[in-house]
Amino acid sequence: MKLPGASEFRKALESETAALLDGVLDAAESRELAVYAVGGPVRDLVLGKQVNDVDLLVEGDDAVALATLAAPPDARVTSHDRFGTVQLRAGAASIDISGVRHETYAHVGALPRVEPGSLVEDLARRDFTVNALALPLSSRALREHSGIVDLADGITDLNGGDLRILHSRSFHDDPTRVLRAARLGPRLGLSLTRGSRTALRDALRDGVFGRVSGDRLRRELVKIFDDARLGLDPSKVFRLLANWHVLGALEPGLDLPRAAVVPLRRLGRAIAAPPWRSGRWRSWVSGLNIWLAPASPALRRRTLQRFSVRGEVARSIGAFSKSSAGWMNALLRARGRGAIDAALAPLSEEELYSLYSLADPKLRRRIARFALEDRMRRVPLKGEDLLAIGLEGPALGRVLNRVRIAYLDGALRDRDEAIALAREIARQRGTSKPKASGRGGRR
Ligand code: ATP
Repeated sequence: MKLPGASEFRKALESETAALLDGVLDAAESRELAVYAVGGPVRDLVLGKQVNDVDLLVEGDDAVALATLAAPPDARVTSHDRFGTVQLRAGAASIDISGVRHETYAHVGALPRVEPGSLVEDLARRDFTVNALALPLSSRALREHSGIVDLADGITDLNGGDLRILHSRSFHDDPTRVLRAARLGPRLGLSLTRGSRTALRDALRDGVFGRVSGDRLRRELVKIFDDARLGLDPSKVFRLLANWHVLGALEPGLDLPRAAVVPLRRLGRAIAAPPWRSGRWRSWVSGLNIWLAPASPALRRRTLQRFSVRGEVARSIGAFSKSSAGWMNALLRARGRGAIDAALAPLSEEELYSLYSLADPKLRRRIARFALEDRMRRVPLKGEDLLAIGLEGPALGRVLNRVRIAYLDGALRDRDEAIALAREIARQRGTSKPKASGRGGRR
């Protein structure tokens, strides 16, 4: 099989990214630097998949200097982390550059201590053989290696559908690699090899997860739902983690409840092809709502603590199971679009996606119509119209809600009809005050 080279790599990129890469390579040529594409992008190129992120390695120089030299006038150079990784960004294109490095772990689960190293050392610290790949791009790199540097037969593993760790203590060094395995395997169509499964069992026996921080675990959870955009089914990741006895090792009693499987899959599809337009929302929160809804309140609380989910997010995930039953009921009983709008308006985008994923087809259609159309519609009424009737405070909100329901149900067409209805409701409720006294009271 002929393996792809530098020109195929360039061709696999969006034009803006390719132009940014050309700049980096020009800068590397001028300083005789060896630059490689590394990890995920090389793996995806070999698999013939779309190359999404560009990760580069530069040997013998620091990444910041190269990125700064390569940056076109409209670009931004951001120093990423304490490992000296730098991001070069121009328009929609972005490239990550790091210096080759070598790492050691102070203890199991700790963040690695990172030092400058060689290309081989850099590849040796990676999670799986299929990621320990580097593609020479600059002339100097091509002089040193004529083709893909494949440290541990990663290409054979890619062809054989195998996900394999580089050494038997890999999961001890960094247990979050187990979560990466459960995510990358189904995403790439690879299965964890027998040897790696044995290493995983040894790591679990040694209680490696005990020392991994909740923040690191949560970051991996977030990526599971981020990767749904690439077609990953989140339920498959949780199924693997459950089968590998990892969920129970993270928190005793934690599992993948049967009731969560189909909704998680549906959520994955909704992330990949959103049924309505949303602003920014946190898909992992929707995922946790669904995953943890069938669990007991105590297990839910402990799990949220284990993943260091705190504050308002933890409160809303904790309450979702109970609240969703009420919302589903209201949705089922709702007569008309106005009532559906009133039932769903208080939900956050995360809750809306969770409810959608849990609902049957009829209720899903109701939720999608609300999210796509009705929630955007504005009642043809101004605040001053209601003030003029003498409404204020909570009474104003209540009357406005009733007018909105009537409007969405198609019972009124314009501002005059809306004002007439608001007046009628206020009269029935006896809530409107004479206008003059309301104003006078505030003066
Ligand atoms: P992809 O591999 O598609 O980029 P990803 O989004 O999980 O998936 P990143 O988290 O951006 O990848 O990591 C980039 C590269 O860094 C990976 O290809 C892998 O080689 C390496 N890497 C990431 N996390 C680890 C880890 N915990 N241990 C060892 N190597 C890692």
